[in-house]
Amino acid sequence: MSGTKCTRLNGALVKQVLDSVDSVLFDCDGVIWRGDQSIPGAPQVINLLKEHGKKVFFVTNNSSKTRKMYADKMTSLGFGVREEEVFGTAYCCAMYLKTVCKLEGKVYLLGSNAMEQELEAVGIQQTGVGPDHVFGKQNDWASVPLDPEVKAVVVGFDEHFSYMKLNRAMQYLIQRDCLFVGTNRDTRLPLEGGKAVPGTGCLLQAVETAAQRQAQTVGKPNHFMFDCVASQFGVNPDRCLMVGDRLDTDILLGSNCGLKTLLTLTGVSTVAEAEAHWESGCSERKGMVPDYYVESIADLLPALQG
Ligand SMILES: [Mg+2]
Repeated sequence: MSGTKCTRLNGALVKQVLDSVDSVLFDCDGVIWRGDQSIPGAPQVINLLKEHGKKVFFVTNNSSKTRKMYADKMTSLGFGVREEEVFGTAYCCAMYLKTVCKLEGKVYLLGSNAMEQELEAVGIQQTGVGPDHVFGKQNDWASVPLDPEVKAVVVGFDEHFSYMKLNRAMQYLIQRDCLFVGTNRDTRLPLEGGKAVPGTGCLLQAVETAAQRQAQTVGKPNHFMFDCVASQFGVNPDRCLMVGDRLDTDILLGSNCGLKTLLTLTGVSTVAEAEAHWESGCSERKGMVPDYYVESIADLLPALQG
């Protein structure tokens, strides 16, 4: 590899990079924890960064938890984190509908209890979550009852996703003035032991295909999540570091927003994939090449303890 991209971050360079930033954004899964277990050393890294006066935030595409649920999980794992420092797509999606779309009307929600709660916290009504049982026969499906107050279809992670929901979403989206918003496009959720399950991106693509429309997404790599953090906490992109385990979401978000980027190898992506993006010479793929990489964020510890 040529150039100065994707440099191993160790030795004196760690302190140099940390001194050059005031804020650090962390992805969660594969970065500070895996499933229900924290990455060894991660709580200390977060707590020491704060002791050193850094602003620390968490940006996750997972829409299945509210900010409070994340803060509670983090606290139980030893991270000193406040609810206000967590930006999940359930919360950011609600903020997007309220502040950017200025939605007046209800949401038809394909999502979770967490999304329901975050929408209601900003005063947006929605149609409810849970199973949608088969209604009538095929000839009836195009005239399934719709709520005339619905002005947006929102797609997040929905364990009750079904043909009936897909149909209902399509019938709403045939109305051209109906907004169409997705939390994120991650197609797979990685699990322990190399296993995986389908992610929200699969559900969103099904709805997009049926509706013959493209959704606006709020999650990484879209800059809206960073805008949310920056507008609430006055973050300067030039002095901000994005830390993540995925090149196509975390690192690309950092590049899209002009942040410094750090790939950690405790999750999904590899250095070989980053090198392939670099060597492709394709400008779009270069946004997925991090400035630095570490084996684990615990590699930051010596510089913080010194
Ligand atoms: Mg991750």
